[in-house]
Amino acid sequence: MSYPVDQLPDISVIGGTWTIVSTRDCAYGRPVEVGQAHFPGWEWPYQPKACPIQHGSWYLDGTLLLCNGCGTDGT
Ligand SMILES: [Zn+2]
Repeated sequence: MSYPVDQLPDISVIGGTWTIVSTRDCAYGRPVEVGQAHFPGWEWPYQPKACPIQHGSWYLDGTLLLCNGCGTDGT
């Protein structure tokens, strides 16, 4: 699951900005649009379409889960 792309939480409070990326839904293989977070001076090691990472980290007091590999919203 993830936030609808028009309802992404405000990450400017932690210095971040969103872009919208098209990736594949893990369960169904359909193209889906998700938010990808960007932080100054930080680049994610993987692109969302080719991300092998299955784990994320929680931000914003546990209301936002970002993939550790590509920074997409996995809340
Ligand atoms: Zn990822």
